[in-house]
Amino acid sequence: MSIPFDNSYARLPDRFYSKLNPTPVQAPQVFALNESLAAELSIDLSAIRPADVFSGNGLPANSEPLAQAYAGHQFGGWNPQLGDGRAILLGEVIGQDGIRRDIQLKGSGPTPYSRNGDGRAWLGPVLREYVVSEAMHAMGIPTTRALAAVTTGQPVIRERPLPGAVLTRVAQSHIRVGTFQFFAARQDVDALRQLTDHVIDRHYPTAETPLDLLHQVIARQAELIAKWMSVGFIHGVMNTDNCQVAGETIDYGPCAFMDEYHPMRVFSSIDHYGRYAYAKQPDIAAWNLAQFATALLPLMPDRDAAIEEFTEAVNGFAPIFAGHWQSLFLQKIGITNAQDDDVQMVHDLLDLMMQQEADFTNTFRGLMTDTASHQFTDAAAFETWARPWRDRIKSEPDAEQVMRQNNPAIIPRNHRIEQMIQAAVNGDQEPFNRLMAALADPFNDNDTELTKPPSSEEVVQQTFCGT
Ligand code: AMP
Ligand code: MG
Repeated sequence: MSIPFDNSYARLPDRFYSKLNPTPVQAPQVFALNESLAAELSIDLSAIRPADVFSGNGLPANSEPLAQAYAGHQFGGWNPQLGDGRAILLGEVIGQDGIRRDIQLKGSGPTPYSRNGDGRAWLGPVLREYVVSEAMHAMGIPTTRALAAVTTGQPVIRERPLPGAVLTRVAQSHIRVGTFQFFAARQDVDALRQLTDHVIDRHYPTAETPLDLLHQVIARQAELIAKWMSVGFIHGVMNTDNCQVAGETIDYGPCAFMDEYHPMRVFSSIDHYGRYAYAKQPDIAAWNLAQFATALLPLMPDRDAAIEEFTEAVNGFAPIFAGHWQSLFLQKIGITNAQDDDVQMVHDLLDLMMQQEADFTNTFRGLMTDTASHQFTDAAAFETWARPWRDRIKSEPDAEQVMRQNNPAIIPRNHRIEQMIQAAVNGDQEPFNRLMAALADPFNDNDTELTKPPSSEEVVQQTFCGT
């Protein structure tokens, strides 16, 4: 069995990881296999037994399984020792696009970093991550991807026994802000330098110094978070160990898309103080990047000068983010040639949406077909906003097309994900297949039923971590 692995992380020093194999499972069965992604990665699925490889039961030739070490701030509190507690990197492949990517199993058994965890995952979070990460990709948002979901035939004990599963995750790398923090906290400057060189080689080849790297990481995060905001996405657990240095969305735990718009919306059951609420995401990203800057400091010979430059770089996050945010939200209302009052028009619309609990996705999508007023209880108030807007976009020749391309019709709504998981647990794969089919083409409403917000009985109040 073979996958064309070309491993670079495994060449880094021993203290970057623990080498170990996945723990075999009883009766692996493929639930979902992403054939088009496999092709993009030059993985020949006929050359392997997917159920075995993507459960960890069979190791392909040239895989060098390892669990990565990292640290991180969780909800602002420092944890010096995290690491892949239930994930194992099998190896790296170079895709058709020339980009190197990790192939990682998640839920593949305990590792030296498992602490009190069992190293496993149950089918629910595995399918949630599969569906949401692929939906993000289809919307053009940088993200890790899902190559396979395999059930293990073994129960996982949570509040009750649940069917176990393994997700195969694909990422440009699994290097996090927390990976840098791990070595900075140990004052292991050699390791920090090797990690920095590795990240520059792999993700930021034009960067020549740690400061260049910092600037470029900041730029990618600013664009990423603006894109999340533009589709109503709430990550839910933006700890520094879930902030990937290459700039992809990673770790879909208690994430959610908003139905009714509110800037302070929170879904995660463990986010008691709303640290990771929708509208706080840019500030939290900047906070995480300040931790990244701090972790790079030991590399700098002149610490005081570096603190000044790094602070300035981190302060640059807000204006870069604002630029992306404005451009994306203007496009959502059909505007590409911004004029002075346009951004205020976006803020006014969002305020109105908040006051009247309008559905985020359907309001923006409805602008294109002039049906957005249906989302407001007081349609007259919406009309007051809409009249000058209609006038304004008369001078935007491609307004309709711009709105179509920036306002998804189909998002993975929380109630649909819950229903899909329930069905899957009961052996019915149809809702998963239906969601995946519609989400592959999110800017067309091919499945109008899936565009509907939840009924009052269907509303999901809380989402839970992927454990
Ligand atoms: P997450 O909330 O998924 O980002 O995980 C935070 C940390 O907890 C990471 O170090 C994970 O590897 C670890 N972890 C989460 N769930 C488990 C589990 N079931 N077994 C072992 N470690 C886990
Ligand atoms: Mg994590």
